[in-house]
Amino acid sequence: MISKTEGIVLKSFDFRETSRIATFLTRDFGKVKGILKGIRKDPRKFGSSLDRFSVNDIVYYQHRNSDIHLVSHCDMKEFFNGFRRDLKRLTAASYASELLDTLVMAEEENTSIYELMQSFLNSLQTVKDINKLVHIFQIKVLLLSGFRPHLDSCVRCQKKIIGPTRFSLPLGGLVCAYCKTPVGDVVAITKGTVASIMHIEDSPWPAVLRLGLSERIKKELKYVLNHFLVFHLERHLRSTRYL
Ligand SMILES: [Zn+2]
Repeated sequence: MISKTEGIVLKSFDFRETSRIATFLTRDFGKVKGILKGIRKDPRKFGSSLDRFSVNDIVYYQHRNSDIHLVSHCDMKEFFNGFRRDLKRLTAASYASELLDTLVMAEEENTSIYELMQSFLNSLQTVKDINKLVHIFQIKVLLLSGFRPHLDSCVRCQKKIIGPTRFSLPLGGLVCAYCKTPVGDVVAITKGTVASIMHIEDSPWPAVLRLGLSERIKKELKYVLNHFLVFHLERHLRSTRYL
């Protein structure tokens, strides 16, 4: 079967003498792995050099017995020149790619995540506060990949939270002051940070970029999001390894 879609290069590596294998995040089919035969022998065969993060129009033949498909056409349409020479921006783009490579299922449609990555890379060219942009990306990715933290009530007793809030990494949500949890599993989180996460989840891309975040909120977001992602990704990776 022939499929045609648009894909962002998450990673690629040389294969045998003349080919390259690339992992694309596609608009229509989730993560797709494809081989571009002869691309190193004759670079003009394809209209793309498979640069990381570039957007390409691709056509590929679905291989029935392998997860590596044969890419017949690959034409670059967006390179994102604006962040290629800035190490901090490049690091943020690499982080986003690795996160999606881990979280997005192979060949399962998730157009919202594709559009999120495109918006992220586009904004990465111009935005001033790169850390804020990465936190917005993390929050949106968790929401769109079904790993959203539970923030509406206590994840243990389901009651509305009054008084101080804590965030449980293993339970993936807020815990009220009355529910017991092992000491090392929870971190303090202020109401302002919780409200910011919920606001980011609900707001469309251009609006969310205008949101102001205090230094304290940014510090909490960094701590909570990084620990939460590491905790859940490790579990995710372990489970895929066992299957
Ligand atoms: Zn509770």
